[in-house]
Amino acid sequence: MQAFDVTAVRREFPTLGTSVHGRPLVYLDNAATSQKPRAVISRLERYYAEENANVHRGVHVLSERATVAYESARSVVARFLGLDDPKGCVFVRGATEGINLVADSWGRSHLRPGDEILLTHLEHHANIVPWQLAAERTGAKVVVAPVTSRGEVDLAAFKGLLSARTRLVAFAHVSNALGTVNPAAEMTQLAKAAGATVLIDGCQAAAHFNVDVPSLGCDFYVFSGHKTFGPTGIGVLWGRAELLDAMPPYQSGGDMIRKVDFDGTTFREAPERFEAGTPHIAGVIGLAEALAFFMPIRASAHAHEQVLLSAATERLRAVKGLTVVGEASDKVAVLSFTMAGAHPHDIGTLLDADGIAIRTGHHCCMPLMKRLGLTGTARASFAFYNTLEEVEALGRALERVRKMTA
Ligand code: PLP
Repeated sequence: MQAFDVTAVRREFPTLGTSVHGRPLVYLDNAATSQKPRAVISRLERYYAEENANVHRGVHVLSERATVAYESARSVVARFLGLDDPKGCVFVRGATEGINLVADSWGRSHLRPGDEILLTHLEHHANIVPWQLAAERTGAKVVVAPVTSRGEVDLAAFKGLLSARTRLVAFAHVSNALGTVNPAAEMTQLAKAAGATVLIDGCQAAAHFNVDVPSLGCDFYVFSGHKTFGPTGIGVLWGRAELLDAMPPYQSGGDMIRKVDFDGTTFREAPERFEAGTPHIAGVIGLAEALAFFMPIRASAHAHEQVLLSAATERLRAVKGLTVVGEASDKVAVLSFTMAGAHPHDIGTLLDADGIAIRTGHHCCMPLMKRLGLTGTARASFAFYNTLEEVEALGRALERVRKMTA
């Protein structure tokens, strides 16, 4: 593995050199969205300045160029997920749309009254609400695997909830609120042994470590571009081609059809089947650039982040009155915490005055917060471009917050 040069890496991210309230920005809100490297920013500019055209339908040079860039991006995504074949990679708006697509299209064609959809208690709302709606539409039932007070899925309970009724299992690869890394391959294996279809929400995993979909063994995997150093408004749903090809369209219109007639319309196979209308071409091209930037440094970036995680955990535990929430044995560099006498929003506002960006609240995980007996937490989420100096800056700022609120 290459040595990780965080100083050199940071130079590639213009935002990281900016100031907030006259202080150097310390950006620790990466679980909400990541910063973008110059390569992505300049690729977007080049696309709009030199290559802008609609894809797939043109015979002119620009359209052909845009189409080549768009379709090669699909191959980059496949490589990023450890796949040989890009066919199952569908471009969507983000993880939210990917999950909605599966819940709607697969759900409509596969869920029946009495079927069960097994989720876990640590899911983001994006991996809860679409299933609740699918259950309402089909008469299926949502079942929830509990989490322990350490913030880990209770595997024995998860296993116990799997039965012949379980039609679908959907869970986060990594918890956005606590940083817990779920044993995704093992959970998938258990679910498949029960005959269920498995969707993994990889939103918080893709930016932190190597995701190898074939070894996970799942049927669907989703992630968002903007959390993976790419543009907003673009994400990926990967699905097994045979499943996707058998699913009814989600949205319809141009590009997803084979033949349209007022007597009836036939549809293309995946991925085009699920890419109705003009896609987010610039977003797709920008995402490929982001993944191409990240892939070569992924392993060393992960090792660097693990150093940040243990340093930050130790530093924050040294702050009087602070409690770290979420103590899973396997975590990415996401630290949720509470502080006696200080509301999470006040912590966030006071840190912002110091130029430190964190997130506070329920993190779109209301059921998890309720389970933990909290209304919210403060969350510092790191990326590979963060430094040990920033960990110390956070620690010092939290000491000041404590003095101000004690
Ligand atoms: N799943 C998880 C675990 C997330 O953290 C998020 C966003 O925070 C989502 C899904 C939804 O992602 P997006 O808003 O990019 O669609």
